[in-house]
Amino acid sequence: MSPPVFRFAPSPNGFLHLGHAYSALLNFDRAREAGGRLLLRIEDIDATRCRPEFEAAIYEDLAWLGIAWETPVRRQSEHLSDYRAALEKLSALGLVYPAFESRAEIARLVAAREADGPWPRDPDGAPLYPGDAKSLSAGEQARLIASGAPYALRLDMAAACWRVASLAWNELGEGPDGERGVVPARPEAWGDVILARKETPTSYHLSVVVDDGLQGISEVVRGQDLFHATSVHRLLQTLLGLPEPAYRHHALIRDEAGRKLSKSSRSTGLRELRDAGASPVGIRALVGLGEVSLGFSQTPP
Ligand code: GLU
Repeated sequence: MSPPVFRFAPSPNGFLHLGHAYSALLNFDRAREAGGRLLLRIEDIDATRCRPEFEAAIYEDLAWLGIAWETPVRRQSEHLSDYRAALEKLSALGLVYPAFESRAEIARLVAAREADGPWPRDPDGAPLYPGDAKSLSAGEQARLIASGAPYALRLDMAAACWRVASLAWNELGEGPDGERGVVPARPEAWGDVILARKETPTSYHLSVVVDDGLQGISEVVRGQDLFHATSVHRLLQTLLGLPEPAYRHHALIRDEAGRKLSKSSRSTGLRELRDAGASPVGIRALVGLGEVSLGFSQTPP
């Protein structure tokens, strides 16, 4: 049997904080315990927010923590043709349509619907896309595209769900409500998610699924904030004929007020902690992973 393959997949849109350290160390420890491989993937498709200095800091901070990863590192911005090919496959299945509304227009459409009663929200709390563009004729779509109007390419969720049998994943960690074992996927809770934009042939969901498949990732270890996104990932994997990894969603490190850490919160930034004299062993202790000298045997809480 081939060794299990893990990955840590940060976005270089800010400096790493304790939450990233926890996730990266868990992946590193799990890979070592299981005699597996650890890959690093730089998720830099958002050219407006990703910066080279953040990417350089990721390498430096991970090395400082004592984490080793395989090279070459996969940088998503260098693989747009892989995502384009996956998008074409979904499009050939008739599951992709262009939607031309701006964020403000979508907010207005949702507000109009809400006048008649509550409008459904996705697991992150954002209102579902009302789906108005789905009813545009091919002629109208072509005219709008030719006019140069910006658009997002969305997944026709109802049609996509109709194509697949019931979906589930193997949860090795624990979801936010204590879910473990075989978890049923509920991609429909997300509505018609964005798969790509006019200027970027991919999105978070599409590129993660394509990369996990191409890189042969067998165990995805990431935060519970992405637990519900796994439903969309399982759907896309199935539609694209990609293998199914096991998932381990770990608890999030929170600040004193119980909030999720953000890349802008200085007190929990790895650089700030290092400059304040923290050691890699100290960071392990801070995130509850115990002593390095214990031989990487701690399991996630
Ligand atoms: N790039 C994502 C992030 O930094 C993580 C993606 C994933 O682990 O699936 O939040």
